[in-house]
Amino acid sequence: MKLDLIPLNLPSDNVRPFVIAGPCSAETEEQVMTTARQLAQKGCHMFRAGVWKPRTKPGGFEGHGEKALPWLQRVKAETGMLTAAEVATPEHVELALRYGVDILWVGARTTANPFAVQELADSLRGTDVPVLVKNPVNPDLELWIGALLRLNGAGVKRLAAIHRGFSTIDHKLYRNIPLWHIPIELHRRFPNLPVVCDPSHMGGRRDLIATLCQQAMDMGFHGLLVESHCNPDEAWSDAAQQVTPEVLDFIIEHLIVRDNVEMTESLISLRKQIDEMDDQLMDLLTRRMRVSREIALYKKEHNMGVVQTRRYTEILDKRGAQGSLCGMDETFVRRIYEAIHEESVRQQMEIINK
Ligand code: PEP
Ligand code: MN
Repeated sequence: MKLDLIPLNLPSDNVRPFVIAGPCSAETEEQVMTTARQLAQKGCHMFRAGVWKPRTKPGGFEGHGEKALPWLQRVKAETGMLTAAEVATPEHVELALRYGVDILWVGARTTANPFAVQELADSLRGTDVPVLVKNPVNPDLELWIGALLRLNGAGVKRLAAIHRGFSTIDHKLYRNIPLWHIPIELHRRFPNLPVVCDPSHMGGRRDLIATLCQQAMDMGFHGLLVESHCNPDEAWSDAAQQVTPEVLDFIIEHLIVRDNVEMTESLISLRKQIDEMDDQLMDLLTRRMRVSREIALYKKEHNMGVVQTRRYTEILDKRGAQGSLCGMDETFVRRIYEAIHEESVRQQMEIINK
Protein backbone atom coordinates (compact mmCIF):
# COMPACT_ATOMS: atom_id res chain seq x y z
CA MET A 1 0.00 0.00 0.00
CA LYS A 2 1.16 3.50 -0.82
CA LEU A 3 0.60 6.93 0.63
CA ASP A 4 -0.09 9.75 -1.82
CA LEU A 5 1.80 12.60 -0.17
CA ILE A 6 2.58 16.27 -0.72
CA PRO A 7 5.64 17.58 1.17
CA LEU A 8 4.87 19.44 4.37
CA ASN A 9 7.79 21.80 3.81
CA LEU A 10 8.82 21.82 7.42
CA PRO A 11 11.13 24.77 8.04
CA SER A 12 14.52 23.45 9.20
CA ASP A 13 18.17 23.68 8.31
CA ASN A 14 21.29 21.64 8.90
CA VAL A 15 21.95 23.39 12.18
CA ARG A 16 18.57 23.24 13.87
CA PRO A 17 15.84 20.66 13.35
CA PHE A 18 12.22 21.57 12.78
CA VAL A 19 10.56 22.01 16.20
CA ILE A 20 6.92 22.20 17.28
CA ALA A 21 6.77 23.40 20.87
CA GLY A 22 4.22 24.57 23.35
CA PRO A 23 2.38 23.56 26.47
CA CYS A 24 0.63 20.25 26.97
CA SER A 25 -2.60 22.22 27.56
CA ALA A 26 -3.81 25.72 26.82
CA GLU A 27 -4.60 26.70 30.43
CA THR A 28 -5.13 30.46 30.42
CA GLU A 29 -4.74 33.16 27.80
CA GLU A 30 -1.84 34.57 29.78
CA GLN A 31 -0.03 31.21 30.03
CA VAL A 32 -0.51 30.62 26.29
CA MET A 33 0.69 34.11 25.29
CA THR A 34 3.67 34.17 27.67
CA THR A 35 4.87 30.76 26.54
CA ALA A 36 4.31 31.60 22.88
CA ARG A 37 6.20 34.90 23.06
CA GLN A 38 9.16 33.22 24.76
CA LEU A 39 9.21 30.39 22.20
CA ALA A 40 8.96 32.77 19.23
CA GLN A 41 11.82 34.78 20.63
CA LYS A 42 13.91 31.59 20.65
CA GLY A 43 13.17 30.96 16.96
CA CYS A 44 10.49 28.28 17.37
CA HIS A 45 8.64 27.49 14.13
CA MET A 46 5.35 26.19 15.35
CA PHE A 47 3.27 26.43 18.50
CA ARG A 48 1.35 23.50 19.95
CA ALA A 49 -1.26 23.52 22.71
CA GLY A 50 -3.83 20.94 23.76
CA VAL A 51 -7.32 22.43 23.56
CA TRP A 52 -9.18 19.14 24.12
CA LYS A 53 -7.30 16.84 26.49
CA PRO A 54 -7.89 13.09 26.55
CA ARG A 55 -7.58 12.11 30.22
CA THR A 56 -7.31 8.58 31.54
CA LYS A 57 -9.83 9.25 34.32
CA PRO A 58 -12.62 11.84 34.56
CA GLY A 59 -12.10 14.77 36.89
CA GLY A 60 -8.78 16.02 35.52
CA PHE A 61 -8.42 19.12 33.38
CA GLU A 62 -10.00 18.19 30.05
CA GLY A 63 -9.07 21.37 28.18
CA HIS A 64 -11.10 24.54 27.60
CA GLY A 65 -12.27 23.51 24.14
CA GLU A 66 -13.56 26.31 21.90
CA LYS A 67 -12.79 28.99 24.49
CA ALA A 68 -9.04 28.43 23.97
CA LEU A 69 -9.08 28.65 20.17
CA PRO A 70 -9.00 32.50 20.00
CA TRP A 71 -5.82 32.32 22.14
CA LEU A 72 -4.16 30.30 19.37
CA GLN A 73 -5.37 32.88 16.82
CA ARG A 74 -3.72 35.54 18.93
CA VAL A 75 -0.47 33.54 19.08
CA LYS A 76 -0.39 33.44 15.31
CA ALA A 77 -1.26 37.10 14.86
CA GLU A 78 1.25 38.37 17.42
CA THR A 79 4.20 35.99 16.93
CA GLY A 80 3.83 34.71 13.36
CA MET A 81 4.24 31.09 14.53
CA LEU A 82 1.96 28.50 12.96
CA THR A 83 -0.37 26.80 15.44
CA ALA A 84 -1.20 23.14 16.05
CA ALA A 85 -3.83 21.41 18.17
CA GLU A 86 -5.02 17.85 18.83
CA VAL A 87 -8.33 16.75 17.35
CA ALA A 88 -10.23 13.61 18.27
CA THR A 89 -13.74 14.14 16.84
CA PRO A 90 -15.29 15.73 13.72
CA GLU A 91 -16.57 18.53 15.97
CA HIS A 92 -12.98 19.31 17.05
CA VAL A 93 -11.92 19.40 13.39
CA GLU A 94 -14.75 21.74 12.48
CA LEU A 95 -13.95 24.15 15.32
CA ALA A 96 -10.15 24.04 14.86
CA LEU A 97 -10.52 24.85 11.16
CA ARG A 98 -13.10 27.57 11.85
CA TYR A 99 -10.57 29.30 14.14
CA GLY A 100 -7.73 28.89 11.62
CA VAL A 101 -5.56 26.32 13.43
CA ASP A 102 -2.80 25.57 10.87
CA ILE A 103 -1.95 21.97 11.68
CA LEU A 104 -3.92 19.24 13.40
CA TRP A 105 -2.61 16.20 15.20
CA VAL A 106 -4.29 12.94 16.07
CA GLY A 107 -3.44 11.77 19.60
CA ALA A 108 -2.17 8.31 20.51
CA ARG A 109 -5.46 7.19 22.07
CA THR A 110 -7.40 8.21 18.97
CA THR A 111 -5.01 6.55 16.51
CA ALA A 112 -5.67 3.29 18.36
CA ASN A 113 -9.37 3.45 17.40
CA PRO A 114 -10.15 2.86 13.69
CA PHE A 115 -13.77 4.06 14.08
CA ALA A 116 -12.63 7.39 15.51
CA VAL A 117 -9.91 7.76 12.87
CA GLN A 118 -12.37 7.05 10.04
CA GLU A 119 -14.77 9.68 11.40
CA LEU A 120 -11.91 12.17 11.56
CA ALA A 121 -10.81 11.28 8.05
CA ASP A 122 -14.36 11.76 6.70
CA SER A 123 -14.62 15.14 8.39
CA LEU A 124 -11.32 16.22 6.79
CA ARG A 125 -12.41 15.36 3.25
CA GLY A 126 -12.00 18.38 0.99
CA THR A 127 -9.73 20.34 3.36
CA ASP A 128 -5.99 20.72 2.83
CA VAL A 129 -4.87 21.07 6.43
CA PRO A 130 -1.70 19.12 7.32
CA VAL A 131 -2.30 16.31 9.82
CA LEU A 132 0.27 14.70 12.12
CA VAL A 133 -0.57 11.21 13.34
CA LYS A 134 0.82 10.02 16.66
CA ASN A 135 1.56 6.33 17.03
CA PRO A 136 -1.16 4.32 18.76
CA VAL A 137 -0.62 3.70 22.50
CA ASN A 138 0.08 0.02 21.81
CA PRO A 139 3.13 -1.03 19.77
CA ASP A 140 1.20 -1.90 16.62
CA LEU A 141 2.78 -0.55 13.43
CA GLU A 142 -0.11 -1.76 11.26
CA LEU A 143 -2.62 0.24 13.32
CA TRP A 144 -0.46 3.36 12.94
CA ILE A 145 -0.20 2.79 9.18
CA GLY A 146 -3.94 2.07 9.07
CA ALA A 147 -4.69 5.52 10.51
CA LEU A 148 -2.38 7.18 7.97
CA LEU A 149 -4.05 5.25 5.14
CA ARG A 150 -7.56 6.20 6.32
CA LEU A 151 -6.63 9.90 6.34
CA ASN A 152 -4.81 9.63 3.03
CA GLY A 153 -7.80 7.79 1.57
CA ALA A 154 -9.94 10.82 2.48
CA GLY A 155 -7.59 13.04 0.49
CA VAL A 156 -5.32 14.27 3.32
CA LYS A 157 -1.99 14.45 1.51
CA ARG A 158 0.03 16.62 3.84
CA LEU A 159 0.74 13.97 6.45
CA ALA A 160 3.48 13.25 8.96
CA ALA A 161 3.86 10.73 11.77
CA ILE A 162 4.76 11.51 15.38
CA HIS A 163 6.61 8.88 17.37
CA ARG A 164 5.73 9.30 21.08
CA GLY A 165 6.63 5.83 22.38
CA PHE A 166 4.40 2.96 23.51
CA SER A 167 2.64 1.92 26.73
CA THR A 168 3.98 -1.15 28.51
CA ILE A 169 3.04 -2.87 31.74
CA ASP A 170 6.46 -2.33 33.27
CA HIS A 171 7.10 1.38 33.62
CA LYS A 172 10.84 1.51 33.92
CA LEU A 173 12.86 4.45 32.69
CA TYR A 174 10.38 5.77 30.14
CA ARG A 175 6.74 6.75 30.42
CA ASN A 176 6.30 5.24 26.94
CA ILE A 177 9.13 3.06 25.67
CA PRO A 178 10.62 4.20 22.36
CA LEU A 179 10.85 0.83 20.52
CA TRP A 180 12.78 2.70 17.81
CA HIS A 181 12.56 -0.19 15.35
CA ILE A 182 8.84 0.59 14.85
CA PRO A 183 9.22 4.16 13.49
CA ILE A 184 12.31 2.99 11.58
CA GLU A 185 10.22 0.31 9.88
CA LEU A 186 7.52 2.94 9.18
CA HIS A 187 10.18 5.07 7.49
CA ARG A 188 11.46 2.09 5.51
CA ARG A 189 7.97 1.40 4.17
CA PHE A 190 7.04 5.05 3.50
CA PRO A 191 10.32 6.91 2.85
CA ASN A 192 8.50 10.14 1.90
CA LEU A 193 6.51 10.34 5.11
CA PRO A 194 8.19 12.71 7.58
CA VAL A 195 8.55 11.31 11.10
CA VAL A 196 8.72 13.66 14.06
CA CYS A 197 9.83 12.55 17.54
CA ASP A 198 7.95 13.54 20.72
CA PRO A 199 10.50 13.06 23.52
CA SER A 200 8.17 14.60 26.13
CA HIS A 201 5.51 11.87 26.16
CA MET A 202 8.20 9.24 25.57
CA GLY A 203 10.36 10.21 28.52
CA GLY A 204 7.66 11.56 30.82
CA ARG A 205 10.49 13.35 32.66
CA ARG A 206 12.18 16.55 31.66
CA ASP A 207 15.69 15.22 32.35
CA LEU A 208 15.29 12.62 29.59
CA ILE A 209 14.35 15.09 26.85
CA ALA A 210 17.83 16.12 25.69
CA THR A 211 19.05 12.54 25.26
CA LEU A 212 15.89 11.46 23.45
CA CYS A 213 16.11 14.49 21.11
CA GLN A 214 19.70 13.57 20.24
CA GLN A 215 18.78 9.92 19.67
CA ALA A 216 16.00 11.05 17.32
CA MET A 217 18.46 13.24 15.39
CA ASP A 218 20.96 10.37 15.18
CA MET A 219 18.28 8.15 13.70
CA GLY A 220 17.36 10.69 11.05
CA PHE A 221 13.99 11.89 12.38
CA HIS A 222 12.69 14.95 10.53
CA GLY A 223 11.76 17.08 13.50
CA LEU A 224 10.74 17.28 17.14
CA LEU A 225 7.57 17.97 19.09
CA VAL A 226 8.42 19.08 22.61
CA GLU A 227 6.15 20.24 25.42
CA SER A 228 7.22 23.63 26.71
CA HIS A 229 5.53 25.76 29.38
CA CYS A 230 6.40 29.16 30.86
CA ASN A 231 6.07 27.67 34.35
CA PRO A 232 6.34 23.86 33.98
CA ASP A 233 6.03 22.95 37.66
CA GLU A 234 2.63 24.62 37.80
CA ALA A 235 1.33 23.00 34.59
CA TRP A 236 -2.24 21.64 34.77
CA SER A 237 -1.22 18.48 32.86
CA ASP A 238 2.06 16.62 32.27
CA ALA A 239 4.00 18.94 34.61
CA ALA A 240 6.96 16.56 35.09
CA GLN A 241 7.83 16.44 31.39
CA GLN A 242 7.57 20.09 30.37
CA VAL A 243 10.52 22.46 30.04
CA THR A 244 10.69 26.24 29.87
CA PRO A 245 11.29 27.80 26.43
CA GLU A 246 14.74 28.74 27.68
CA VAL A 247 15.67 25.16 28.58
CA LEU A 248 14.22 23.94 25.30
CA ASP A 249 16.37 26.43 23.42
CA PHE A 250 19.43 25.19 25.32
CA ILE A 251 18.60 21.58 24.42
CA ILE A 252 18.04 22.38 20.73
CA GLU A 253 21.15 24.56 20.57
CA HIS A 254 23.31 21.65 21.76
CA LEU A 255 21.88 19.02 19.42
CA ILE A 256 24.17 17.58 16.82
CA VAL A 257 22.21 17.34 13.59
CA ARG A 258 23.81 14.74 11.33
CA ASP A 259 24.16 15.33 7.62
CA ASN A 260 22.74 12.78 5.24
CA VAL A 261 25.81 12.81 3.03
CA GLU A 262 26.59 10.36 0.24
CA MET A 263 28.18 7.10 1.35
CA THR A 264 31.95 7.17 1.22
CA GLU A 265 34.15 4.28 0.06
CA SER A 266 35.04 3.33 3.61
CA LEU A 267 31.37 3.10 4.63
CA ILE A 268 30.61 0.97 1.56
CA SER A 269 33.45 -1.38 2.49
CA LEU A 270 32.29 -1.62 6.13
CA ARG A 271 28.74 -2.41 4.96
CA LYS A 272 30.13 -5.15 2.71
CA GLN A 273 31.82 -6.72 5.73
CA ILE A 274 28.53 -6.63 7.64
CA ASP A 275 26.70 -8.24 4.70
CA GLU A 276 29.26 -11.04 4.58
CA MET A 277 28.95 -11.65 8.30
CA ASP A 278 25.15 -11.70 8.01
CA ASP A 279 25.52 -14.37 5.30
CA GLN A 280 27.69 -16.40 7.66
CA LEU A 281 25.18 -15.94 10.48
CA MET A 282 22.35 -17.20 8.24
CA ASP A 283 24.45 -20.15 7.21
CA LEU A 284 25.25 -21.04 10.81
CA LEU A 285 21.61 -20.69 11.85
CA THR A 286 20.53 -22.98 9.01
CA ARG A 287 23.08 -25.58 10.12
CA ARG A 288 22.00 -25.22 13.74
CA MET A 289 18.35 -25.83 12.77
CA ARG A 290 19.39 -28.90 10.76
CA VAL A 291 21.03 -30.41 13.85
CA SER A 292 18.01 -29.46 15.90
CA ARG A 293 15.76 -31.40 13.49
CA GLU A 294 18.06 -34.44 13.89
CA ILE A 295 17.61 -34.13 17.64
CA ALA A 296 13.85 -34.14 17.05
CA LEU A 297 14.13 -37.52 15.32
CA TYR A 298 16.05 -38.85 18.32
CA LYS A 299 13.45 -37.48 20.74
CA LYS A 300 10.68 -39.04 18.69
CA GLU A 301 12.37 -42.42 18.65
CA HIS A 302 12.90 -42.31 22.42
CA ASN A 303 9.47 -40.86 23.15
CA MET A 304 10.93 -37.74 24.78
CA GLY A 305 9.17 -34.34 25.10
CA VAL A 306 10.29 -31.47 22.85
CA VAL A 307 11.24 -28.91 25.49
CA GLN A 308 13.90 -29.95 27.97
CA THR A 309 13.76 -27.08 30.43
CA ARG A 310 17.06 -27.79 32.12
CA ARG A 311 18.96 -27.74 28.83
CA TYR A 312 17.17 -24.55 27.73
CA THR A 313 18.01 -22.71 30.97
CA GLU A 314 21.62 -23.89 30.65
CA ILE A 315 21.90 -22.44 27.11
CA LEU A 316 20.34 -19.09 28.11
CA ASP A 317 22.60 -18.72 31.17
CA LYS A 318 25.78 -19.83 29.44
CA ARG A 319 25.34 -17.71 26.30
CA GLY A 320 24.03 -14.72 28.25
CA ALA A 321 27.14 -14.72 30.44
CA GLN A 322 29.39 -15.29 27.42
CA GLY A 323 27.73 -12.41 25.57
CA SER A 324 28.31 -10.12 28.48
CA LEU A 325 32.01 -11.10 28.57
CA CYS A 326 32.13 -10.19 24.86
CA GLY A 327 30.85 -6.69 25.58
CA MET A 328 27.21 -7.25 24.69
CA ASP A 329 24.15 -6.69 26.81
CA GLU A 330 23.27 -9.96 28.56
CA THR A 331 19.50 -9.55 28.02
CA PHE A 332 20.11 -8.89 24.33
CA VAL A 333 21.95 -12.21 23.97
CA ARG A 334 19.31 -14.03 26.01
CA ARG A 335 16.60 -12.58 23.73
CA ILE A 336 18.44 -13.89 20.66
CA TYR A 337 18.64 -17.36 22.17
CA GLU A 338 15.00 -17.26 23.20
CA ALA A 339 14.08 -16.50 19.57
CA ILE A 340 16.36 -19.24 18.22
CA HIS A 341 14.94 -21.71 20.72
CA GLU A 342 11.37 -20.79 19.77
CA GLU A 343 12.04 -21.51 16.08
CA SER A 344 13.93 -24.67 16.99
CA VAL A 345 10.97 -25.92 19.05
CA ARG A 346 8.60 -25.10 16.16
CA GLN A 347 10.70 -27.14 13.76
CA GLN A 348 11.03 -30.06 16.20
CA MET A 349 7.26 -30.11 16.81
CA GLU A 350 6.70 -30.42 13.07
CA ILE A 351 8.88 -33.52 13.00
CA ILE A 352 7.55 -35.11 16.16
CA ASN A 353 3.91 -34.64 15.08
CA LYS A 354 4.44 -35.95 11.56
C1 PEP B 1 -0.24 15.50 23.92
O1 PEP B 1 0.48 15.67 22.94
O2 PEP B 1 -0.44 16.33 24.80
C2 PEP B 1 -0.86 14.16 24.10
C3 PEP B 1 -2.03 13.99 24.73
O3 PEP B 1 -0.10 13.20 23.63
P1 PEP B 1 -0.33 11.62 23.34
O4 PEP B 1 -1.51 11.54 22.42
O5 PEP B 1 0.95 11.26 22.68
O6 PEP B 1 -0.52 10.96 24.66
MN1 MN C 1 0.91 16.16 27.20
